[in-house]
Amino acid sequence: MAQIGQILVDVPTMQTNDPYSYAIPTELEHQVQVGMRVIVPFGRGHRLVDGVVVGLSDVTNFDGQLKPIETVLDLAPVLNSELRQLADWLATTTYAFRITCIQTMLPNLLKTQPKRQVWPTTTLSDAEMATYFPEGAPRDFDATKLDEQTVAGLLKLQRAGKVEVVYQVKNQAAAKTTTGITPALPPTKLNEIREAVSQRAPKQADLLAYLAQMPADKVIAQSEARKQANVSAAVMTTAAEKGWLTRSTLEVYRDPFHQPVTPTKPLHLNAEQQVAVSAITTAIDEQQAENFLVEGVTGSGKTEVYLQSIAIALEQGRTALMLVPEIALTPQMVNRVKARFGQRVAVLHSGLSKGEQYDEWRRIDRGEATVVVGARSAVFAPVENLGIIIMDEEHESSYKQDENPRYHARDVALWRGEFNHCPVVLGSATPSLETRARAAKGLYTRLVLPKRAKAQAMPTVHVVDMREQMKIQGDSDFSEPLMTAIKERLDRHEQIVLMLNRRGYSSFVMCRDCGFVLKCPNCDISLTLHMDTHSMKCHYCGHEEAIPHVCPNCHSKKIRYYGTGTQKVQQALEQRLPDAKILRMDVDSTRRKGAHERLLRQFGEHKADILLGTQMIAKGLDFPNVTLVGVLNADTALGLPDFRASERTFQLLTQVSGRAGRASKPGEVYIQTFNPDHYAIQLAQKQDYERFFVTEMHMRHQGSYPPYYFAVQLTASHEEEAVAAKAMFQIVEALKQGLSPQAIILGPTPKAIARVKRKYYYQVVIKYKHEPKLRAVLEQIRQAAQAPARRGLTVTIDSEPMSFM
Ligand code: ADP
Ligand code: ZN
Ligand code: ZN
Repeated sequence: MAQIGQILVDVPTMQTNDPYSYAIPTELEHQVQVGMRVIVPFGRGHRLVDGVVVGLSDVTNFDGQLKPIETVLDLAPVLNSELRQLADWLATTTYAFRITCIQTMLPNLLKTQPKRQVWPTTTLSDAEMATYFPEGAPRDFDATKLDEQTVAGLLKLQRAGKVEVVYQVKNQAAAKTTTGITPALPPTKLNEIREAVSQRAPKQADLLAYLAQMPADKVIAQSEARKQANVSAAVMTTAAEKGWLTRSTLEVYRDPFHQPVTPTKPLHLNAEQQVAVSAITTAIDEQQAENFLVEGVTGSGKTEVYLQSIAIALEQGRTALMLVPEIALTPQMVNRVKARFGQRVAVLHSGLSKGEQYDEWRRIDRGEATVVVGARSAVFAPVENLGIIIMDEEHESSYKQDENPRYHARDVALWRGEFNHCPVVLGSATPSLETRARAAKGLYTRLVLPKRAKAQAMPTVHVVDMREQMKIQGDSDFSEPLMTAIKERLDRHEQIVLMLNRRGYSSFVMCRDCGFVLKCPNCDISLTLHMDTHSMKCHYCGHEEAIPHVCPNCHSKKIRYYGTGTQKVQQALEQRLPDAKILRMDVDSTRRKGAHERLLRQFGEHKADILLGTQMIAKGLDFPNVTLVGVLNADTALGLPDFRASERTFQLLTQVSGRAGRASKPGEVYIQTFNPDHYAIQLAQKQDYERFFVTEMHMRHQGSYPPYYFAVQLTASHEEEAVAAKAMFQIVEALKQGLSPQAIILGPTPKAIARVKRKYYYQVVIKYKHEPKLRAVLEQIRQAAQAPARRGLTVTIDSEPMSFM
């Protein structure tokens, strides 16, 4: 009997978790392996599609004539057995398709069809060379163009460890410089010229407007300026010739993680750290899949516990995986790992090019890198023989993917810990309620680091009642106590971190006469004013338009800007504190590769006094000279209609407060709020996580929310509101019929932002404790959503969503 392959195929709109049977051509028999990717003919048209081999057998229950697979895409499996089992588990628990899960696990380069070459890895015999490398090594490898005999022969050589396939990555040596531009005339002059040319050369006018708002001393990359002003290279050249701008050479920074770091030695642990490391060491030694929660206040030395635990695993000849929320935001953490483990470290993150990412992936796959550091998707790194998995800042919402498969990296980490018989260490100063609740139930071993590592005091936190401040000094972004504290620090040459969780200049513009608010044409949200680009922007779909000077509704000129963003605060600070040097860190100022690291490095070198930013500055930063943290508006998250609003607020305030006074000088924090009596704010002031946990658990219990209940959120979206709504009503009907009366079904309701990118969103949330039929019901809903009659309708299923909005 010939061999038969079970193949998962990738055909959008016809996804299924059941593999199809294909015959393996005689030539390739016993050469094709599970975990390899293949090309197979599909459907009546015999269209060629990609697939993955998930099983091999000698029999099939399909009694027709089996189609043969066309050829193989790889000479070796791309997924090992652990990752294949993980993919199946992921598909089941996240209601995603197996093929989607497999693709999520692979590095981006493998998802494209790059050029591939076969290289000999040992000396081949003359006969082998003559047969397989008639024109010398390496040779191009594209199995679709080779006869089966050659493919079969190459597969045999690969299995014998004599050849390997290498993906060709275009080697773009990092350009170190690029062209920069600076305005050559003052803004008034530029605006004069703009008015003169606006009729006959609108593009030139656009560029002039852009130049007029650029700070006089700023150099910006020409490519970036072109993007922002939306003009061609020719317009740039014209402008240079006319003397509107000057061109210069601008330095481009290289990937910071390639920079050498100074090696460090393990620190002498304090008593609590010692207890933690010993407990984790025992689990590593005994190959126990024990899970730990390291609950340590900010600055308590959690990182040192991680590093010394990793060292233990490596000593035993095992490997380590360390997850961090967002690599770009935590360059210090990556450097600390590299400083301890050097060349053994591989870093996986989205800032790498496809080629760089693939290089790191291969170093891991080959066992050259034994410590892997990365963000969410690094949890799928093909490290074998794991001895420890660490997840820093385990409460961070970026660990949950918000597209299919909607997995949480924590769940994957726990699965892999179980599989590899190794401990999983979850660390945070403010653990998620779920995690802390599991520790309370005894599912995780809790290790507490109650004080800062070098016995520094925790910062003193003041809550400023902005309702009172409004009465004293009107509408200002800075309370009097915070401003006084800032000036004190500037006098003492100490540094300041200020957080405002809103980017842009003003959050909306409104007409004073008719109340008209400028909204996005594609989304149900107001447009934000941006001064850097001189435009109105939608933060959801990227729509951009000119700033209105008359009301589009009533033609009144009384257009006013409301609400504060980081750009406006930066301007206000520059006016009030002309001698202070300010760095702004938000999505807009960090678009360019390496921008985060550059800003943080400048701040670390004390080239600036104030670091002003959105929540991206709250995490992980360890700057000894920062003695003051100001939160300009603590209420942004609190106002959201979501069960996690208090938790998020408490976590953010505690994290950002933890940036102050980390070294010898004591730290101070000012939290400005309109809700000074809210428990999340009061307990953040006391930095009392345990009290917060108890209080919040009580609230969750009262409201029947997670972690007392499990939750699933379903969303239907369509360009026509009625279609989305109707689909959701049908889904709710199916749920009511299929589930027990104990399941709580909330909805259908429009989502908090009902329309995004021209699509209407309707949702339902199911809260439940025990629903044996839930999986089957959701499976049916998922299959029904693929019906051809449902074109344009998207139904998503999110198990344990990060929010109910
Ligand atoms: P966390 O990750 O808990 O916020 P860190 O690991 O950043 O804390 O530690 C805070 C500071 O304390 C760092 O500068 C670190 O080098 C230092 N530190 C940690 N453990 C020790 C120790 N055992 N002895 C001396 N310094 C330590
Ligand atoms: Zn109006
Ligand atoms: Zn929009």
